[in-house]
Amino acid sequence: MIVIKGVAASPGIAIGKAYTVEPEEIVVSRVEIPPESVRQEVKRFKGAIDATFRDLDQTEAKVLKMLGKEHAKLIDTHRLILSDPLITKDVSRRIAEERVNAEFALSEALERINRAFEKIQDEFFRERRHDLFDVGKRLLSHLMKQEKKTLSGIRAPAILVARNLLPSDTLNLRESDVLGFVTDLGGKTSHTAILAQSMKIPAVVGLSDASHRIKTGDELILDGDQGLIIIHPSPEAVTKYQKARIDALKEEEALDALRGAPALTADGHKVKMMVNLDGIDELKTVAALKPDGIGLFRTEYLFLNRTSAPAEDEQTKAYLAAARAFDGLPLVIRTADIGGDRTAHLGLETSKNEQNPFLGLRGIRLFLRHSELLKTQFRAILRAAGSGKVKIMLPMVTTLREIQSARRVFQQAVQELSAEGTPVNKKVELGIMVEIPAAALTLDALLEEADFVSVGTNDLIQYLLAVDRVNEDVAHLYDPFHPAVLRVLREIVETAHKRGKTVTVCGEMASDPKAAGLLVGLGVDALSVSSRMFLRIKQIIRRMSLERTREAVQQAAAQADSDAVRRVLAALDS
Ligand code: PEP
Ligand code: MG
Repeated sequence: MIVIKGVAASPGIAIGKAYTVEPEEIVVSRVEIPPESVRQEVKRFKGAIDATFRDLDQTEAKVLKMLGKEHAKLIDTHRLILSDPLITKDVSRRIAEERVNAEFALSEALERINRAFEKIQDEFFRERRHDLFDVGKRLLSHLMKQEKKTLSGIRAPAILVARNLLPSDTLNLRESDVLGFVTDLGGKTSHTAILAQSMKIPAVVGLSDASHRIKTGDELILDGDQGLIIIHPSPEAVTKYQKARIDALKEEEALDALRGAPALTADGHKVKMMVNLDGIDELKTVAALKPDGIGLFRTEYLFLNRTSAPAEDEQTKAYLAAARAFDGLPLVIRTADIGGDRTAHLGLETSKNEQNPFLGLRGIRLFLRHSELLKTQFRAILRAAGSGKVKIMLPMVTTLREIQSARRVFQQAVQELSAEGTPVNKKVELGIMVEIPAAALTLDALLEEADFVSVGTNDLIQYLLAVDRVNEDVAHLYDPFHPAVLRVLREIVETAHKRGKTVTVCGEMASDPKAAGLLVGLGVDALSVSSRMFLRIKQIIRRMSLERTREAVQQAAAQADSDAVRRVLAALDS
C-alpha cells in the first residue's frame, strides 16, 4: 500500500481502478524548405490556424452545454492565444526568414513563450501556460494531420491518472466514465481543479510523479478531502474508505433535509444564516440552500484576469442577476477587495511591486486612490439596488476618514444617477468589514458612519496574529482559537450591541464546524457561510445549546493559549 500526498482539489472519495493517460509525445523535426515553397508553407500554417478556430467553436458549444457560460470564457482565452501575433506573425516570419517547416517554427515559438511564462510569479497566470500548450498541440496536430487523441479509450468507470490534463482533454470526457482525477501537475487554481469541482468529481492534483507510479488497472483510493491517494490499498483500507463514502452519502441526505429548516439552537435562539457568494455562476446552488440572505458577495472575480476594469453595465448585469435571485432577501455586495494575494492587472499606475502586499494598497485603500473605480462600482450597485434588499460593504477599513471619503463618492454616484433620471434607492445602507484590529478597537467611532458591520475573520486573524494567511511556513500559527481572537471578537460584539447594531461574521471561521458555535456563543447575530458548509453549520447550530456555549466561551476567552481554549470547548461536547 503506497500513500501519496498532493493538493486537495475537489472533495469526495473515489475507489476504483486507475486509467493512466500516457503523455502524447509529438516529435517535431526541422525540415528546410526551398524559397519557392515559403508561401505555400505559410498558407499551410494559416490553414491550421483556421482549423483550430473551428475546433474551438465546437469545444465552446460543448463547454456551454456541460458547464455553463462562466467556463466557456476559457475558450476565449484560447482564441486570444491563437490570434496573438507572437504565434501568428512570429511563426510566419520564421518560416520565411529561416526557411523552415511550419511545425518547427511553431514549436520554437511555443518554447520561447513558455520560457517567458515560467518566470511569471502570479500562480494563476503561470498556470495559463497549459492553455498555451493546449492550443499549440491542437495546431500541431492539424499541421501533422494527426488525430488528437481523446480519452475515449476508457471502457469502464475509472480514476483518471495523468501527468497533466489539458482543458480539452477534460472536456472530452463522459462524466459517467470518471470516478476521479489524479494529476502530477497543477494547483488549486488549475483547470483540472476548477472543472472537477464543477463536475462534482473528486480530484487530487500536484502529486509530482504519481502518473509514473500508477499503471492502468491498479487499484486506487482517492481522498479528495485530505488530498491523498492510496495505491494498492489493503482490504482494510478499502473497507474503511467504503464505509466513509457511505457515511458521507448518508450525512449528505440528512443535511439535505435541513434546507429551509429554521436555524434555531436547541434552546430556541434564532441565528441568521446567510451565504457567501463568490460569483454569479453559483447563484442557482446558493438559492437552493434557502439562506436568510447573502452576507458577502465578493466582487473581485469581475476584476481579476483582465487588463481593464469591468464597465458599469457589465457590473450592473452581475449585481442585477444576484438581486433578482434573492429577491426580498438581504444581499450585501462588497466593493472589490483587490490587492494582497488578489493581484489585478488593470494597468493602474500604482500596481507596482510591493514588499508587503497584504499591508499595502488593498481593498478600500486602492479604490479611494482610484476613486473612479469606486464610483463606477457604486453606480452599478445602485442601478441594481431597485430590485431586492441590496446593501454595500467596504473592505479593509482602518479609519473613520476612509468611510467618510467613501460616503462622499457614494453621494456623487447617487447625485449623478438622479441627474441622469435613473431612479435611485437612497436608503441603500453602507457598512464595513471589520477585519483590521484597529477597526475592531475603534468600532464605537466607526459606527458613527457605518450602517452595519461584518467581521472578516480571515484577515482579522492574519493581522492580529501577524501570520500571512497564504504562507505555508507559518500556517500552523494561524489560529482562530488563540484567546486574542476570542477577546477581540467579544469586544466587537459588545461595542456593536451597545449601539443597537447586529454583528455578522463572514470569514471562514463561520464555516468552520469547530468554531461556528463559539461565534454564536460570543453573541454574533448572523453567520455568513460558504455554500459548501452551509447545511453542515446549520446542523451544528440546531444541535447546540446557546446558554451552555455562552458560559464556556467566556471561560475560553480567559485562557492563556489556544490549547486551553480548545480543551474548554471540547468539554462542551462531552
Ligand atoms: C475575511 O477577511 O474574513 C473575508 C471574508 O474577506 P476575504 O476572505 O475576501 O479577504
Ligand atoms: Mg478580508
